[in-house]
Amino acid sequence: MTEKTMPIAKVVAPRGIKFRKINMSRKTSPCPRCGEMSKRHSIGRRRLREVGISGPTVLEVTYSKHYCEKCRKHFSLPMDHLAQPSGRFTNRVRRTAVDLVIKQAMTLEKATQRMRQKYYVHVPPTTLHDWVVAELTLA
Ligand SMILES: [Zn+2]
Repeated sequence: MTEKTMPIAKVVAPRGIKFRKINMSRKTSPCPRCGEMSKRHSIGRRRLREVGISGPTVLEVTYSKHYCEKCRKHFSLPMDHLAQPSGRFTNRVRRTAVDLVIKQAMTLEKATQRMRQKYYVHVPPTTLHDWVVAELTLA
């Protein structure tokens, strides 16, 4: 392990997180089960860690929650293009980190360090491990 060489303090120190707001809310959205256009009944918010260019970046995503009267089920506006359903990171973070391991053959620790230093986002090695395994399983 190379804890000593990791400039953790530098990155963790408060240096102004950039918040980028994205509003994906819609009045209606098709039900994922039956396709029926369903009305919005409430609004949800989600924070996602994003790849940073000059500092830590967080996406604040506003999305709509809908109710299908036909299926009598609630569902949230899909945002698979942006992030995994229960993930804390954007797909871009995931893609970038996985590429460091698979395409550039970095170790998990090295990739984690690179993500911190270059993109201002901390991806735990265990999380990155899961992503890489999922990627290799899909391929
Ligand atoms: Zn439905």
